[in-house]
Amino acid sequence: MANYRVEMDRVMCISCGNCIETCPKLWEFGDDGISSLIGSPITGDIQTKKLQKLGCSIDGAKKCPVMCIHVYDGDNELI
Ligand code: SF4
Repeated sequence: MANYRVEMDRVMCISCGNCIETCPKLWEFGDDGISSLIGSPITGDIQTKKLQKLGCSIDGAKKCPVMCIHVYDGDNELI
């Protein structure tokens, strides 16, 4: 059973749009103009989304100039 997870620190986001352009299934701009993980509640600085498949999550994270997106497989940080 896949146990992937994306975490992003929204405080660090500079709204460049790279993650959204690279992986629009996972990210969109939130009402506050900051990139947001689609379908995940925004409850604090760190937004988290569980994934069944990695999909384009890694590609999106790689394109982030401030490296505020991290992808995990369980406890293992993939990026
Ligand atoms: S790539 Fe990084 S800095 Fe750019 S919008 Fe996405 S999270 Fe924000």
